[in-house]
Amino acid sequence: MVEDHRSVVRRSEIPGSISRPVVTPLYPSVVYRSTDADELDQQYEGHVAGYSYAREGHPNADVLAAKLAWLEGLGDNDPQGVVTGSGMAAVSAMMLGLLSHGDHIVAGNQLYGRTLRMLDNDLRRLGVDTSLVDVGDGAAVADAIGASTTMLLVEAVSNPTLRIADIEALAEVARDNDLLFAVDNTFTTPRMFRPFEHGADLVLHSVTKMLAGHADVTLGYVAARDEGVHQRVLDAAVTWGLTPSPFDCWLAERGLHTFELRYDQAERTATLLADALAAHHGVEAVIYPGRSDHPDNARSKALFDDRSGTMVSFRLRGDRAEVNAFIRAAEHISFAPTLGDVSTTISHPASSSHRRLTVPERTALGIDEGFIRVSVGIEDARLLVDELVAAVGLATSES
Ligand SMILES: *Cc1c(COP(=O)(O)O)cnc(C)c1O
Repeated sequence: MVEDHRSVVRRSEIPGSISRPVVTPLYPSVVYRSTDADELDQQYEGHVAGYSYAREGHPNADVLAAKLAWLEGLGDNDPQGVVTGSGMAAVSAMMLGLLSHGDHIVAGNQLYGRTLRMLDNDLRRLGVDTSLVDVGDGAAVADAIGASTTMLLVEAVSNPTLRIADIEALAEVARDNDLLFAVDNTFTTPRMFRPFEHGADLVLHSVTKMLAGHADVTLGYVAARDEGVHQRVLDAAVTWGLTPSPFDCWLAERGLHTFELRYDQAERTATLLADALAAHHGVEAVIYPGRSDHPDNARSKALFDDRSGTMVSFRLRGDRAEVNAFIRAAEHISFAPTLGDVSTTISHPASSSHRRLTVPERTALGIDEGFIRVSVGIEDARLLVDELVAAVGLATSES
């Protein structure tokens, strides 16, 4: 009997082609085959390049990492960073790779909610102590540093209050005290701010947000300039299983092609929106770093040049009833707790991201019932601004 080697169960050879695809192929393969044990040996020894198992690395993650590294200003010879399965996985990989029992972290007191929760609960449980401070105040940060402090973690712009960290002072404090200075650059994006140029040792991203940009991918990224630091984060990501799926990386790469266009369009609209809202009697205050009435406007100009971001926060005159009326009136705009999508989203921190805080705690941050955050998208600017301004008018016309 003739054996048929063309069983459908057997793996096929990939058809040869002298021409190559222009789009990065998607590599869903969990595993990679070698010719023989000697070849595999050479690969494990690092003499030849090769993939082995998808959790350890795959082409789609590496292509994406190289693009993100380039955006953050890293060179070809720098480590290219680690892509992770979510923004929180990036935070986790950094913590698990770089901290030990007994270490102390100083971090911003207005970080992303889940990051705060990790610092407050999970890391403490694992024996890592944390101090949360106002990172707009370099002296307060310096005061919080003790003998066991090893890391300083900040976001350049706070959410949703859009206050700006004193990055130059913090970088100096980190340098003087030999701390790893980590910046979560999700809100600012490398279009607005490149932390490595301001003394950061690590840069983190929720790629989920503006970098991927289409609300269909959950991914994260963490980059370190130092090879040893990079390797520890990579090992933690692989060991703790925080690495990403090829398809998500493929989608994020596709999203990234238009990142700069999307950012610029959204920022132009954000500026128009901030000014239009500020002119409306139904708005108590607009919070936008590019406006001269923003408390950190001078710092914004110094740190971000002419960039002001794609997020606009404001205080609607009124209470929950007016907020509900506003959200319902802006019927074509999603009321959804995310940011960075091509489509504008509105969020209400008092009922979502900051609901676990007491009213006095929220008030201390400047977040009241009327506080609304807009993540500006790339739809037609005039339509968007008109709809939001009209919604403010409808919601506040009675009061
Ligand atoms: C969303 C976000 C995260 C977490 O990212 P996920 O992709 O949702 O896990 C971390 N930091 C900031 C600033 C974020 O906005």
